[in-house]
Amino acid sequence: MNLPFRSADQGQALPGCSGQPVLKQRGQREVFCGLTGIVWLHRKIQDAFFLVVGSRTCAHLIQSAAGVMIFAEPRFATAIIDERDLAGLADIDVELDGVVNRLLERRPDIKLLFLVGSCPSEVIKLDLKRASERLSKLHSPRVRVLNYSGSGIETTFTQGEDACLAALVPDPPLPASGTAPSLVVAGALSDVVEDQFTRIFRDLGLDDVAFLPARRSSGMPAIGPGTRFLLAQPFLTETARALEERGATHIAAPFPLGAEGTTAWFKAAADAFGVSDSTFRSATDAGRMRAAMATAPHREALVGKRIFFFPDSQLEIPLARFVSRELGMELTEVGTPYLHRQHLTPELELMPQGTVLSEGQDVELQLDRCRAEKPDLVVCGLGLANPLEAEGFATKWSIELVFTPIQGYDQAGDLARLFARPLDRRTRLEV
Ligand code: SF4
Repeated sequence: MNLPFRSADQGQALPGCSGQPVLKQRGQREVFCGLTGIVWLHRKIQDAFFLVVGSRTCAHLIQSAAGVMIFAEPRFATAIIDERDLAGLADIDVELDGVVNRLLERRPDIKLLFLVGSCPSEVIKLDLKRASERLSKLHSPRVRVLNYSGSGIETTFTQGEDACLAALVPDPPLPASGTAPSLVVAGALSDVVEDQFTRIFRDLGLDDVAFLPARRSSGMPAIGPGTRFLLAQPFLTETARALEERGATHIAAPFPLGAEGTTAWFKAAADAFGVSDSTFRSATDAGRMRAAMATAPHREALVGKRIFFFPDSQLEIPLARFVSRELGMELTEVGTPYLHRQHLTPELELMPQGTVLSEGQDVELQLDRCRAEKPDLVVCGLGLANPLEAEGFATKWSIELVFTPIQGYDQAGDLARLFARPLDRRTRLEV
């Protein structure tokens, strides 16, 4: 097979696989669109509403992925673009204003409204930025209106969160007094993980820490030149760019998955703020030990097992580092939709040398490589999981790793269990 390879820094002896060639593929892809992020973002930001401006397909995707809330008012909906809009027979701006006005009248609990673009809104070149500015002026100060794109044109599903957080960065503006927090953690984390991280930061002596997104729209951190930020998720390219444009500085670190990743993530923050080694150890030793104990039984089941990652969530590289170093699994191929070198170098440095890395997808070629490798476990999107199961492979849905709280010491055991469960189920079925 003649495959196009590119090398990052050929000839240099770099740690792990940070200098290793990456197989670049630009063919047919199997991924969800960025609207999927609404599923976890609407739960995280408790006074926000996500109004997708899209088609019936977009409405079906969101309703089936997020479920229909029976007892609570939903905090997402779709303004359907119909044939009259597509044919240019209706003034879509007037229609959108009417939908938003009715929504905000009926729902005084909404403080932050996102207009979320889709494939249809992009195809008809609907200017949602202008619409959000117009509607923000109209409904300010009660409601802020922002926009971002969740379209499936050239995206993967976690880019929806990236676009949403990037839209939040310039809002609110930095006050003249310069009260930006000194450390911002960017990336939607479940509340339980956020609380655990806040306690550890406090034990490190770091009290001035804010999370992006905050749980309520009024708590979004202002960003300024004194701000340093840690990424909690590896798919936040645009958010990081927006933070840097506001003068914030990135603290490079592996991602907080597993005992090792979590320790390295906190250590990077501790070093950036001059926390002593003894304070660091007393804040993290117990958590590290709990994580190691919780993963140990799963390591026994998974050590030596071969795993193949299809590109889907952009979490693949940190997950591969975790399963290889903490669970003893053997990496066959690690695919990722995009490989952001700068953000992922600390991860790549920890990966075993010689790991096959691929970026992008040509799905048929990749399926052939997967079949040839005969891995024990395949991590992939929903669209590939069922056909691969039918061929006899054990699979893990990568989207489950985004929905489940997996970051931090106290989730390390749950994270390991997510990889062990498909193999365990298969063993039981065979008995
Ligand atoms: S945004 Fe595009 S890919 Fe996503 S559901 Fe709507 S039409 Fe489909």
